Amino acid sequence: MEDIVHNIRVVQHRIAEACKRVGRQPSEVRLVLATKTVQAERVRSALHAGATVLGENKAQEALAKYKALEGEKAEWHFIGHLQTNKVKYALQFASLIQSIDRIEVVQKIDQRLQKEGRSIDVLLQVNTSSEPSKFGVHPDNLVALAREVARYDTVRVRGLMTIGLFSAEQEQVRTCFRLLAQLRQQLRALELSNICMDALSMGMSGDFETAIEEGATMVRVGTAIFGQRLYPDSYYWNEQMESEGR
Ligand SMILES: *Cc1c(COP(=O)(O)O)cnc(C)c1O
Repeated sequence: MEDIVHNIRVVQHRIAEACKRVGRQPSEVRLVLATKTVQAERVRSALHAGATVLGENKAQEALAKYKALEGEKAEWHFIGHLQTNKVKYALQFASLIQSIDRIEVVQKIDQRLQKEGRSIDVLLQVNTSSEPSKFGVHPDNLVALAREVARYDTVRVRGLMTIGLFSAEQEQVRTCFRLLAQLRQQLRALELSNICMDALSMGMSGDFETAIEEGATMVRVGTAIFGQRLYPDSYYWNEQMESEGR
């Protein structure tokens, strides 16, 4: 518990230092805690230590945690790969879905929200590293996806999200973040109605400072705050395992 408090302070300090390097204000960058596999009570400690935004990868696991933490003040984001049959769970806790990469999910969300008479904020997830294992729309198809999503008035696009290249080479990772920032500019220039391009969600434990230098408005940090996870990340990004309900 002490560790979590300390680690959050350290990450906040590193965010502030990265901002300083490029003349940005720390208030321009939101820290989203990536809490997959983290038990509800440890998440509670993080919230008491000043964390305000949580990002979860698995809709059912997240919903259980959300219920366990009822009464705590927190904003919940969905940051994992979203399958159409899990949309109903994600909509029960998430105020922002960061990982929209295909229209089928949007259609499903729209069906539900039409009935509930409300809307939700989303980010479009872009595959900026061209790694086949990674989810996200290919940069070449982003504009087409944005145009399609814009037709659904229950779904409000707020910006873009990406997972950078898994590389210790920061300059290679930086290329991914630059690309995302460029894509945001391109989309802004199109001035599509119902599409707002303010948010850039990029940067994780290994690369959030680089992401901030390239304009991130949200960084998603897990390991640097909660320590190593038990499962490899592929577990959270593997469609097959998820559809088997594991
Ligand atoms: C797990 C995860 C993170 C955080 O990764 P760390 O390296 O632990 O900071 C960020 N974004 C997404 C989408 C994730 O799944």
